[in-house]
Amino acid sequence: QNQLKQAEKADVVKYFNGTGFERWNRIYSNSDDVNKVQRNIRIGHQKTVDDVLLWIKESGRVSEMSFCDAGCGVGSLSLPLASLGAASVAASDISQAMVEETRRRAELAGLDLDRMTFNTSDLESLRGSFHTVVCLDVFIHYQQKAAEEMVEHLCSLSREKLIVSFAPYTPFLALLKTIGQFFPGPSKTTRAYILRESGIVDAAKRKGFNVFRRKLNQAPFYFSQLIEFRKN
Ligand code: SAM
Repeated sequence: QNQLKQAEKADVVKYFNGTGFERWNRIYSNSDDVNKVQRNIRIGHQKTVDDVLLWIKESGRVSEMSFCDAGCGVGSLSLPLASLGAASVAASDISQAMVEETRRRAELAGLDLDRMTFNTSDLESLRGSFHTVVCLDVFIHYQQKAAEEMVEHLCSLSREKLIVSFAPYTPFLALLKTIGQFFPGPSKTTRAYILRESGIVDAAKRKGFNVFRRKLNQAPFYFSQLIEFRKN
């Protein structure tokens, strides 16, 4: 099981430093160089990011909050958090290419780099203590048990909130996946796992976190359950 997890992780690193980087960097941008599926993933993902920003703005003074964005990708969340005036934003990703792109975009946007950190690290190795820990659309690359362990670890980094999103297990999605349409097209290069929400919720509960609110975001080819947990 552990060896399988390591092998899968090695594949994920390779993918997100190579073709995956090219693909997702385009999806998470304004580039017109995307196909219809990728455009829909962009639209769906933006809904997730917008909800997170809304929830965070609603829940208090951002300038007093420290954030950990685990699996930050190209900074789709880290950058707006920094521009909202977050006390600190720790952006990290298992892919060096992704982290470099996050830094590049932050510099380009003229953000205060003194309040941001950029680290190449898998989220399991992250250490520290943050007001809010966020991990969006990362668990899709891992099986249920690995994802649950990740949730437990992320809880241990958070003083107040954990916000995660993942593709939820539903009979319909399970069927789509079985017939291979979940990530269609020539750029289908990573495994994608759909996860049982009950397992994710129980993992957080074991660490003293409970569901505060949740939202399902959808677009064609994008399906993501967003959950905000709060510490008891
Ligand atoms: N969270 C970002 C967002 O929503 O814009 C990026 C989502 S992207 C689909 C998935 C990201 O997870 C990739 O950048 C990938 O390198 C990263 N990733 C995958 N496994 C990871 C791990 N174990 N630790 C940290 N990052 C990971």
